Amino acid sequence: MPTINVVVGTLPPSLVSYGGQVALPTLRIRFNILCELMTLSSSVAPLEKVPLETYVPPAKPSLIGLSRTEIADRLGEIGVASAQRKMRTQQLWHWMYVRGAKAFDEMTSISKEMRAQLEQHFTVDRPEVVAEQVSNDGTRKWLLRLPSGDGFQKAHEVECVYIPETDRGTLCVSSQVGCTLNCSFCHTGTQRLVRNLTAGEIVGQIMVARDRLNDWADRETPTGSRLVTNVVMMGMGEPLYNFDAVRDALLIVADNEGVGISRRRITLSTSGVVPNIIRTGDEIGVMLAISLHAVRDELRNELVPLNRKYPIAELLQACRDYPGSSNARRITFEYVMLKGINDSMDDAKLLVKLLKGIPAKINLIPFNPWPGTKYECSDWEQIEKFSEYIFNAGYSSPVRTPRGRDILAACGQLKSETEKLSVREREALRAMAMTD
Ligand code: SAH
Ligand code: SF4
Repeated sequence: MPTINVVVGTLPPSLVSYGGQVALPTLRIRFNILCELMTLSSSVAPLEKVPLETYVPPAKPSLIGLSRTEIADRLGEIGVASAQRKMRTQQLWHWMYVRGAKAFDEMTSISKEMRAQLEQHFTVDRPEVVAEQVSNDGTRKWLLRLPSGDGFQKAHEVECVYIPETDRGTLCVSSQVGCTLNCSFCHTGTQRLVRNLTAGEIVGQIMVARDRLNDWADRETPTGSRLVTNVVMMGMGEPLYNFDAVRDALLIVADNEGVGISRRRITLSTSGVVPNIIRTGDEIGVMLAISLHAVRDELRNELVPLNRKYPIAELLQACRDYPGSSNARRITFEYVMLKGINDSMDDAKLLVKLLKGIPAKINLIPFNPWPGTKYECSDWEQIEKFSEYIFNAGYSSPVRTPRGRDILAACGQLKSETEKLSVREREALRAMAMTD
């Protein structure tokens, strides 16, 4: 049977099934490379893409990523008596999220019969690690493979990066394969959106990091070695376009009877999905980072096309209204330094003016160039001048890289080759992943 690639816009709506395949009498049409092509004829970049591929759960589902209530329900479905479910759920929770058990067999406080029953129906699988890069200073990058929709689809892969420092270890986590949005300076933005990650796949990234770092609690280290102390949702994808899964995952990560990374040590970075910013404060309660990058709508429309939907004034109002922000819990504003585009002293002045009244810190990120980009990183002297102005206006404005050009990838930028991170790349990752 022939397989052809199609542009979704060319299919009649009745034949468009969400991210899957469409069976036609003689052709089986595969959605492969779609959404960026949708507006090839239009000169204005599309605001958003739609997921192309679907998540097909494995036959034996993993319990990772389910809430306590969901676990109890699953136990009910396999015949566990209701009087036992709460206790069994607590045991499972402890083994999964405090001890990091990779198989039911390890869960020795659960009866043998029960373990066998669990084994028959479920797993505690996390994403599969297909490549690991370890740098001299301990920075690690994992390429993770996730289940793809069917035999036709390419493997779904995301990256996760661990950045150790003297006082913390930060894990940069992905929320989507690709990204819904099309920021013009971001490599991920040029890629197609494949699908949202499930809550299990998001929590799974933290579990993989703890597995590889040997960071789980055991008899000798009952509270764990605490190598992964901070989480930043700054990998691939726009977390607020996958709100429910991100929320469910982060609530598990923050649960103090489990993974136990407090909300103050979790930062969610968004390009500005305004309606979900307040929900983030209300329903997740983590620290917020905003990818601002421009202080005028005209420019921001170009750099972050989502600005056409939620312009700067609306975005900043959502920040003013963000529940729980205070001088002790400041909102981070990320600002990528693009030569001759957004790095003038007028920009710096307007930035300070715009942020007035918001408990804020500003993270200046030297632009990381990628093949085919039209942008360049600002000169180092300009970055310093910009930073100094902001600092003198009373904002913390770290630029955590000694040089401003030829630096690596935003967290989550999938790299095709496995190679060691250079010193500059590590500095760049740190600059992006800083939470204070
Ligand atoms: N989608 C979310 C989180 C992932 S991106 C967001 O946009 O906030 C994490 C950070 O890296 C964002 O601030 C993003 O704007 C920045 N970034 C993306 N591409 C970059 C590049 N090429 N150079 C420097 N920073 C980049
Ligand atoms: Fe997506 Fe963030 Fe990249 Fe924009 S900067 S395309 S929102 S990952």
